[in-house]
Amino acid sequence: MSPRESSNLLRRAVSTQMRKKYELKTTEQIRKMRVAGLLTAKALANVKAAIKPGVTTLELDQIAEKTIRSGGGIPNFQLVPGYYHTICASINSEIVHGIPSNKVLQAGDLLSIDCGAEVDGWNGDSAFSIVVPGLDNELTAARQKQSDVCEGSVWAGIAALAKAKHLNEVGIAIEEHISAGGNYGILEQYVGHGIGRSMHEDPAVFNYRVRDKGPKVEAGLCVAIEPMITSGDQRTFVDSDDWTVVTKDGGDGAHWEHSVAVHEKGVWVLTAVDGGVEGLRPFGITPVAL
Ligand code: MG
Ligand code: MG
Repeated sequence: MSPRESSNLLRRAVSTQMRKKYELKTTEQIRKMRVAGLLTAKALANVKAAIKPGVTTLELDQIAEKTIRSGGGIPNFQLVPGYYHTICASINSEIVHGIPSNKVLQAGDLLSIDCGAEVDGWNGDSAFSIVVPGLDNELTAARQKQSDVCEGSVWAGIAALAKAKHLNEVGIAIEEHISAGGNYGILEQYVGHGIGRSMHEDPAVFNYRVRDKGPKVEAGLCVAIEPMITSGDQRTFVDSDDWTVVTKDGGDGAHWEHSVAVHEKGVWVLTAVDGGVEGLRPFGITPVAL
């Protein structure tokens, strides 16, 4: 989400933690969100299958849009004022919010794709990073490791959510996983969020330790967990296109995200085709489908 949106969320998270300002979703609503989550996953899978040297990020955007529209959904990024694409595509020193363009992918690029679909009024939001295939050296190994650590931290966060009393436990688990994985920076200005009728809702989901416990984790809470990490310093700037978030030191960015529902019987990863079975296995947690 944008700096303004995330700072609003941060402010509200601090000022209204005692009063719930977001909707807890019913079983029926979570099932609808699963439909949106699966369509988001399908769009990302189709994009992933097309990633190779020589392809432009605009071509990837078209694949995602076609997948979502033919699946009966709306690309919800296009509902964000001033944004006209279906995905964000961020390459190397770009971390998030890269605008699809005629930029051509090169072997070894670290590419992050973020995408979301709205179906029947309910939203999904998910992202992955990937090293563009075709090059194998020290740099690509480091990029792959950075992506793996970021992905692992999403699952650590989801595993924490499954047992958490308060939402801040998610950020602690994410930060601990990332710190254990290497000397990476965690973006602090950009955070995860509640999701439902809108792609971006309260509450804010921090990717790091915060003093405030945050809202109670209870059935019906639906959140998008999305750590963004850098290979060096965590400081960023927004490019002259007003969207793309870039590292100041030129280091690489990685970004992974899943939308997750908490319900009476457990957690369900709405944007993972298997509901989170594989990702949560190392943590001894079995997600529960509704
Ligand atoms: Mg996203
Ligand atoms: Mg998001």
